[in-house]
Amino acid sequence: MAVSKEVKVPDIGDFTDVEVIEVHVSPGDSIVTEDPLITLETEKAAMDVPAPVSGEVGSVAVAVGDKVTEGSLILTMTPAEDDEPAEDKPEASEPSVPAEPGVAVAASGAEFSGPVDIETDLTVLGSGPGGYTAAFRAADLGLDVTLVERYPTLGGVCLNVGCIPSKALLHAAKVIEEAETMSEFGIRFGTPEIDPGALREWKNAIVGRLTNGLDGLAKQRKVRVVHGTGRFLSPQHLHVESEQGEQVIGFKQCIIAAGSESASLPGMPDDPRIMDSTDSLELAELPATMLVIGGGIIGLEMACVYDALGVEVSVVELTDTLMPGVDADLVRPLEKRISGRYSEILKGTRVTEVVAEDTGLRVSFDGPDAPKPQVFGRILVAVGRSANGLRVDADKAGVAVNAQGIITVDRQMRTNVPHIFAIGDIVGEPMLAHKATHEGKVAAEVAAGRKRAFDARAIPSVAYTDPEVAWVGVTELEAKADGLDYGKGVFPWAASGRSLALNRDDGLTRILFDNASGRVIGAGVVGPHAGDLIAELALAIEMGADAEDIGLTIHPHPTLSETVAMAAEAFDGTLTDLYMPKRR
Ligand SMILES: Cc1cc2nc3c(=O)[nH]c(=O)nc-3n(C[C@H](O)[C@H](O)[C@H](O)COP(=O)(O)OP(=O)(O)OC[C@H]3O[C@@H](n4cnc5c(N)ncnc54)[C@H](O)[C@@H]3O)c2cc1C
Repeated sequence: MAVSKEVKVPDIGDFTDVEVIEVHVSPGDSIVTEDPLITLETEKAAMDVPAPVSGEVGSVAVAVGDKVTEGSLILTMTPAEDDEPAEDKPEASEPSVPAEPGVAVAASGAEFSGPVDIETDLTVLGSGPGGYTAAFRAADLGLDVTLVERYPTLGGVCLNVGCIPSKALLHAAKVIEEAETMSEFGIRFGTPEIDPGALREWKNAIVGRLTNGLDGLAKQRKVRVVHGTGRFLSPQHLHVESEQGEQVIGFKQCIIAAGSESASLPGMPDDPRIMDSTDSLELAELPATMLVIGGGIIGLEMACVYDALGVEVSVVELTDTLMPGVDADLVRPLEKRISGRYSEILKGTRVTEVVAEDTGLRVSFDGPDAPKPQVFGRILVAVGRSANGLRVDADKAGVAVNAQGIITVDRQMRTNVPHIFAIGDIVGEPMLAHKATHEGKVAAEVAAGRKRAFDARAIPSVAYTDPEVAWVGVTELEAKADGLDYGKGVFPWAASGRSLALNRDDGLTRILFDNASGRVIGAGVVGPHAGDLIAELALAIEMGADAEDIGLTIHPHPTLSETVAMAAEAFDGTLTDLYMPKRR
């Protein structure tokens, strides 16, 4: 017979006398593991205390407004006979992915029989958004977790040298540009004085706040953090080396989340004026001129920053379009805007040689419209990222890695070695933080015995340029190439009151619908805050929404979000904000 169990406040870090701001359960309620019982509010954040097991609530010992500390009684409950839902029980290993032909992999990995310093349930290699999410989720599910990171701070590329610092600088760029624009409308601020050192410090402070926050979250969850470079010794062991010494970690399961690095261009001289994205975020110098090699998202975002900071920017892109693979109607407003601001945008052009001279970097070009050699103060090489799979001795664990450093995984994020998972940039495109975190959760939950798989229908992408460009699901290029029977609803932002109030008329919201089911299959948005708006369309795809679902959802006025509803109405033939010739 089940015995009554007391549920107490767990370890909540260094906080005491924390206020209960919500009580989610009452006596007699049936609860399942992980259901929130109460919500606490510290000066840093609100946090839920989840049910440790399933069962029925007996008595509740706390009320809203009470102050609690670790160990305070929350409630008594009668655990269910079998408190673990069947779907959460460990499942038999699915057949893991086969090794790709022609890749360097030892079928069963190497042997290791030396001393082991740390024994752990789960080792996570790499603390980027994929790694820390996986580590935290696995710890929340009861695993003993060891997180290995070669750098002194957690957070990986995203927090330290990627998403967050670039967005901080893009915000600064936006403020400068908007202030500039307002001078046309009677508000003049004068020429900005730019102090790169102070700007860098502000950006670094944001990064520091987030990475310190991760340290705290790891501590609260009792995730063991080991700093050092990890390499596999065998399918069960990882060697970690740092300036402080060496350690061997023995693990039952492992998640490889070692990410990616900036790809380099062969033949470049060794010169500090040639930067990758990490260098460019440091703002070591604001040169008079800069060439961005690569017209993809990262190159164009940093071009936007340096342009706003007063640098004369040129962009060179090998293919015939900026942001290759993105629909032309979405890229056009961006290209139009930056064509008016940048010195040159060279498409279909190859950089053939860079020579370091005292006065600058002399660059030669090749292509139908290639200009004569030109000298630039700095160059940013932004030609993509390469996965780190070949840098962790994965072969000693028997894990297959292809020649590009990418590890192949199945839908449960398992590699060809069933107890070793891989997530994030190291498993390939799209190399995006939100894909990494989602995969991290899947891998952690599978490692903890839950039945989970990566089954997202679509992954949104965003370029935080000005204007922002965002897309999700099927692109129109893909729809055409695959011969899909689709229709589209388009709403130009020139008809959006909110967009005009922002002094912008260059945006566009466009949704693609499957003609047979009526459901949204893809969408694109270009304009300020497009990156925020695309989330609604990602949800529409996940929920199988059609044009009526979106159009009949009341969107607040005046917002840019209305453009989503109006694009749906344009497809549905119910739009009144534009005159649409009758189509059905
Ligand atoms: C300038 C820039 C801007 C970006 N902007 C965005 C954006 O706005 N939105 C977005 O979604 N994505 C953006 N990205 C991409 C995003 O940063 C990555 O997709 C994301 O960080 C990948 O997460 P991850 O966990 O796979 O790996 P990473 O973030 O690369 O983390 C991997 C971690 O593993 C560690 N590591 C590697 N090898 C070892 C080893 N042998 N031992 C120990 N530790 C190791 C690394 O030090 C690193 O901390 C941007 C990238 C850049 C460069």
